[in-house]
Amino acid sequence: MTTSGDGVGSSAYAFDVERIRRDFPVLKREVNGHTLVYLDNAATSQRPVQVMAEITRFYRDSNANIHRGVHTLSVEATDQYEGVREKVRSFIGAPSASEIVFTRNTTESINLVAHAWARAFLEAGDEVVISEIEHHSNIVPWQMLRDERGIVLRHIPMLDDGTLDLDVARATIGPRTKLLAITLMSNALGTIVPVGELADLAHAHGARVLVDAAQAAPHLPIDVGELGADFLAFSAHKMLGPTGVGVLWARGELLEAMPPFLGGGDMIATVSLTESTWNEVPHKFEAGTPNVGGVIAFGTAIDYLQALDMERVRAHERELTGYALSTLARVPGVTLHGPLDPNLRGGVVSFSLEGVHPHDVGQVLDSRGVAIRAGHHCAQPVMQRLGIPATARASFYIYNTRDEVDALEEAVRETASYFGFTPGATVA
Ligand code: PLP
Repeated sequence: MTTSGDGVGSSAYAFDVERIRRDFPVLKREVNGHTLVYLDNAATSQRPVQVMAEITRFYRDSNANIHRGVHTLSVEATDQYEGVREKVRSFIGAPSASEIVFTRNTTESINLVAHAWARAFLEAGDEVVISEIEHHSNIVPWQMLRDERGIVLRHIPMLDDGTLDLDVARATIGPRTKLLAITLMSNALGTIVPVGELADLAHAHGARVLVDAAQAAPHLPIDVGELGADFLAFSAHKMLGPTGVGVLWARGELLEAMPPFLGGGDMIATVSLTESTWNEVPHKFEAGTPNVGGVIAFGTAIDYLQALDMERVRAHERELTGYALSTLARVPGVTLHGPLDPNLRGGVVSFSLEGVHPHDVGQVLDSRGVAIRAGHHCAQPVMQRLGIPATARASFYIYNTRDEVDALEEAVRETASYFGFTPGATVA
């Protein structure tokens, strides 16, 4: 085990939440007279001091552009940036570091596949299958492609408990399917999708599988081989890293066959005034100066998570989620959305409080220092399916505790009494 900080070290029991919390100074902050309880991790995580120190170190000691200079700083920056590909490769169990493309975020990674792969290889009438619980970033690019190219967009529906209807999935994925684009974990409900099973189905019909791992990569152990993914997309900012850094992993042969996404510097081998040839993979997909410092600091975030061990991260969050589900279920007027079994969901608990709009829940909780999300969570089809405009959503990470879940419960109870809720009253 590597020693990357105060919270993550060589102790026999590495997963020590109190020690981890010391690496996140923001958790000591007062918000509205209360110690912050940060439960908006599905939107973005906090960053440990190690990641912040790495950003400072890079700009203080090694800052230079990459792949361009022969001077020492440029070579150092290039080595550090390229070294993070290997860390990402190992984190997701990919065969080769050259299959790791750095983007700005999950959204850009999915758009890269829609632009470069789908526009080159899909024709009118070909089918792309998504699900009803996707984030907008795994819906809108396919609708745009449908409108431009005449592909057919189909979806796997959600059942009442927030899981997917696998019977319909079996009937939907078929010989015309060219791509299954599916989330591994829903940001709105926490549902963990049996992607491996669906990927087998898609592959049996010769389709490719794109996995949106924006929520899964920060919270679950990931192995692209076991998942059966052909493309995998995720964002650094949800997993202790900086904003503005994302990853697209794709099978090497797919990256080789795909045309570039954006044109410009660094993605070329040669340029004349009449034509250009492309750089080798993955550089072919990284046009222009990337977020060099951000990628390097993302490497530190990955070190941090790997030292913790993703199995333990998952175990911690499953325990906390189970506790939150049972705690909130006891609050009169609370309806929990999504699967009630913590084995079927990640650390996301979406709920409604009878008679109170989720935004009001969010505001009252904020006045007590509890940060949650209220809204449609960029998953409007989920809200449409539930027949509600929005939910309140608490989401957990490595530094959250049972005491914080208790603070959440207390604040939700106070919200109910603040709005004069009486169980069974009509929703306003
Ligand atoms: N997919 C899922 C499941 C998400 O939860 C999110 C962000 O919340 C995204 C995609 C988009 O991520 P980003 O905004 O980092 O591109």
